[in-house]
Amino acid sequence: MRKKPKIYVIKLDRKKLLLLGLTILLIITITFLKGFRVSKIFNYKNKEAIVIDPGHGGIDGGTSDKTGLLEKDINLDVSLKLKKELLVEGYGVIMTREKDESLENLSSINASRYRRDLNVRKTIINENEPLAFASIHVNSSKKSGARGIKIYYFPTSTEGKRLAESIAKSVDINLYGKFLKDDNLRAEVLPEDYFILRETKYPGALVEIGFITNPEENKLLQDEGYKEKVAFAIKKGIVEYLKGSQ
Ligand SMILES: [Zn+2]
Repeated sequence: MRKKPKIYVIKLDRKKLLLLGLTILLIITITFLKGFRVSKIFNYKNKEAIVIDPGHGGIDGGTSDKTGLLEKDINLDVSLKLKKELLVEGYGVIMTREKDESLENLSSINASRYRRDLNVRKTIINENEPLAFASIHVNSSKKSGARGIKIYYFPTSTEGKRLAESIAKSVDINLYGKFLKDDNLRAEVLPEDYFILRETKYPGALVEIGFITNPEENKLLQDEGYKEKVAFAIKKGIVEYLKGSQ
């Protein structure tokens, strides 16, 4: 069939040709539009980019308190503040989500909703080849006394560990020292086998920005000034880490 395309063209009259042309155009348009959203987030290809991953979203609220305060909303709020901070520094920023949504519908793997959502986040990180990435979460505990920022890295990742330590140092100085003026508080750096850290190829840290179950931190996590400082401290930590790795 391929050898004699002309025979088929000749057989078509003008109307049919026009119809064929329009159909092809329609198919091309639909294919383009369908792929647009995915290609937009999957192919940023900016070597100077940093990926921010606000945990949970949409149907997945993450942890919560009795008043209905949801982790997913705090994560997104702080992540958008962090985005602003990094843009000011001149970095490209890619967000795994910029609104209240879960991402499982962008994944075609045969797995649970939860795993598909994580798989999309992993793909966004790996496809964009970022300088670094940070996953933002809120902690909870049965003990209301548990508090403080905890920063996790994958156990065998030396770069992840360096990044986590740099963020912790910045939190101690900028948030606990200068902002809360409490020298007894310290951010904790811990190794952990989290999917998003294990399955990604770039230096990353998962930051638990406080305990929703701790009365004091619960209030702070709803305070604009505090959340801005958290974002600022994480930004500083990332930037300092990147300076050190040049
Ligand atoms: Zn979480």
